[in-house]
Amino acid sequence: MANPLYDALFAPHHGKSTPFLIAPDGKVRSHDDFLKQAARLAHALMAMGLQPGDRLAVQVEKTEAALALYAAAVQSGVVFLPLNSAYTVDELRYFIEDSQAGLVVCDQRMEGELTPIASGLGAKLLTLNADGHGSLMVLADDQADVFPTAHRQSDDLAALLYTSGTTGRSKGAMLSQRNLLSNAQTLVDHWRFTADDRLIHALPIFHTHGLFVASNVTLLAGCSMVFMPKFDRDAIIAAMPHSTALMGVPTFYTRLLDDDRLNQDLTKGMRLFISGSAPLLAETHLQFEERTGHRILERYGMTETNMNTTNPYEGERRAGTVGFPLSGVELKITDPETGKALPKGEIGLIEVRGENVFQGYWNMPEKTKEDLREDGFFITGDLAKYDADGYVTIVGRQKDLIISGGFNVYPKEIETVLDDQADVKESAVVGLEHPDFGEGVVAFVVMQEWAEVNEDQLIAALGQELAKYKTPKRIIALEELPRNTMGKVQKNVLRDGYRELFLN
Ligand code: AMP
Repeated sequence: MANPLYDALFAPHHGKSTPFLIAPDGKVRSHDDFLKQAARLAHALMAMGLQPGDRLAVQVEKTEAALALYAAAVQSGVVFLPLNSAYTVDELRYFIEDSQAGLVVCDQRMEGELTPIASGLGAKLLTLNADGHGSLMVLADDQADVFPTAHRQSDDLAALLYTSGTTGRSKGAMLSQRNLLSNAQTLVDHWRFTADDRLIHALPIFHTHGLFVASNVTLLAGCSMVFMPKFDRDAIIAAMPHSTALMGVPTFYTRLLDDDRLNQDLTKGMRLFISGSAPLLAETHLQFEERTGHRILERYGMTETNMNTTNPYEGERRAGTVGFPLSGVELKITDPETGKALPKGEIGLIEVRGENVFQGYWNMPEKTKEDLREDGFFITGDLAKYDADGYVTIVGRQKDLIISGGFNVYPKEIETVLDDQADVKESAVVGLEHPDFGEGVVAFVVMQEWAEVNEDQLIAALGQELAKYKTPKRIIALEELPRNTMGKVQKNVLRDGYRELFLN
């Protein structure tokens, strides 16, 4: 029976003793061993009464067993719904209820609070802990290690991933087998992954980056990964001499640059450093090249679309850009008002179409209609422009666009000028309600260790380079910028915290 995603990612590795997961302590788990555990877990899912198409909500720490649970879901046709391990009980209630999950798998520390909630919502509950043990594993241990793969079609759902939802409720993005498989194939191709690669995997697996980009690419290429529970600079540095590739968020790279051990010698066996999920500062790109000789390859994607663009493997990786649309992905920049495609150089909304684009938002037909056009183009909400050579540069989310005195202000432009100041380490620019201008531009900065903030001087320096309406009215120094687990700056936290700044 056919199951396109399982058949491509997992089935080819049955019976193979080739290394798949390497623990930081060097312990190796083979492809075959991993697949046997997945099969036992698939039986356990069936024993709990799940059927193909049912949702499996999973909030656990990153372990090999958690990854095997993803494989088990694909093999049994169950829809995998991974949840950020930072979510609170209240947030979990919403996800379980909204998705009508049939089974919840959580860490034992959540069991007490979640059991009544799950049972009230008609879901069963099992545990899987950070040490790889739990009631799910007890049930799985007695099962057969061969499982009859469930029949699935390309359009059937493989996963439901909730967006981070910084505005309003989180939305469940419905991802089909085709969405995931086509993207994995495209990425293996673009980034030249082969069975000889060894990827350093230090990303969470509740998010598209670590779960689909990193794991699916590794599985499809048939290579191995050093599988780390979380970002750990020492462990990554120790793994580099035995690895070939790293996928990270920008903060991985800034933290690596803070370590003197990062140099050409350490990275000489590495062939590829990839960055995504948040903008990589051009400065970081340049510093990394200076230290290691490697040009970081930046790519752009999102939960709803998988990956959309990448800088080239061969050819110029242009700092500050996210490269070109992937093959099979159509990308246009459109006028937010009219939806018409804009000429090169003009800023507008990114719209994408292709096999990578999701099936819509779970239980939200209205929202789906708003964002996913009938002709298949998805309105991403990201603002960007094409340059003359076809590279895409993202200037920020549409909801972060500032309108001050009737003029559009793109935060990225001001952040770039700020980041170029010798005393400034990084910055985030937002618009806050202002009695005269509608919104006033405010910059939050993290200063270099040696520097002290002098607000008037910084504003004056910016005034040399920026039009008056773009120049921040206030510059506020912070110890660090608020970021989520994927390294994205949480501008909503800044806006909420300083809402009254101009109103008093
Ligand atoms: P998520 O759905 O959590 O993966 O978030 C997707 C969003 O992250 C996108 O819509 C972009 O706003 C942002 N993003 C992802 N990759 C990049 C990148 N390379 N540069 C700038 N923003 C990015």
